[in-house]
Amino acid sequence: MKRPLTFKAADRLLVFAPHPDDETLATGELIQLARESGASVRVVFGTDGDNNPWPQRWCERRLRIGPAERERWGRRRRGEAQAALARLGVASDAVRFLGWSDLGLTGTLEHDDAAIETLRGEFERYAPTHVAMPSLRDRHPDHGALRVMLELALAKARAGCVRLSYVVHGRDADAAALKVPRDATRHARKREALMAHASQISLSKSRLLRWADQPETFEPAEPGGSIAGASDGGIVLSLPLAPVFRFWRRHDVVLVIENGERIERARIPLPRLAGSTARATLGKALCAGRVDVTLDRGTLQIAIAGDADGHVRGYVKLDRTMPRVVIFDDETWQRFGDFSGSYAPSVETVAVAQRASL
Ligand SMILES: [Zn+2]
Repeated sequence: MKRPLTFKAADRLLVFAPHPDDETLATGELIQLARESGASVRVVFGTDGDNNPWPQRWCERRLRIGPAERERWGRRRRGEAQAALARLGVASDAVRFLGWSDLGLTGTLEHDDAAIETLRGEFERYAPTHVAMPSLRDRHPDHGALRVMLELALAKARAGCVRLSYVVHGRDADAAALKVPRDATRHARKREALMAHASQISLSKSRLLRWADQPETFEPAEPGGSIAGASDGGIVLSLPLAPVFRFWRRHDVVLVIENGERIERARIPLPRLAGSTARATLGKALCAGRVDVTLDRGTLQIAIAGDADGHVRGYVKLDRTMPRVVIFDDETWQRFGDFSGSYAPSVETVAVAQRASL
């Protein structure tokens, strides 16, 4: 059952969009609903969407896109996002562009601690009651990577807020989703806001309008690990591998392990031969320093040593390393281990607390 979303005047909605136009496509009606209730809204963009050569070639009638052209396109897309948000009721001083690498956020997640601190600062300064952000299940690599970075930052900030996950690319939210109540005026304004993204409308108008016409739904907090793991002084994850992964595509296992304070990452090339093991060493603080990745009859076994108490939690993804014609992921990020302590309050517990205080 889909439950309707509501806001109160004291609420503060913080929206994270990996690229300009995600804010309108995923949260155009949510933002209006929050503003109508008197809630404050802030929108943060991860990238300027500047690595977007085909619409740029079309709009600018040029083949070669160099750094100067890319920068110009990024500026254009920032302006379009500001215009779209103005139509949705968000003033320019409530919008921030982080300017991170478009199509490069997996690398930002893997290498840039300062980026996670920047996100943590957003949570600490704005103190949102609600955060809207991409789902881990979104098949665009920037969307999934931004979500993992946001979870790391939320854990560091110990921010207790309602987490609303949206999917732009991939399967729609499940049956337990929260839903923005349909309203013709809000929907019409969302379509107007989308038209402000003229650079994207140029090649994809009907596709984008089709997306914008979908009801806005959000998955509530996802407190559990999405892959079960046998636990014995650490964790052993089993990922079934489709033949396509084993034979002709090159992938790495990317691991992010955290404990709310420290973050460790590892990138381990997939073993090519059945029965073979690839090994990585992590910092000793979180998991006793070892990860073993073994390919065993079509299943990838990832054994991660735990900390002193045998605990380990984090995120794992099979990341395609071949040059990409299609940018979308075959496999998305998955969460493993025990996150129960880092997820408070969920939508459900907020609802219960409000009832209890009546
Ligand atoms: Zn996007």
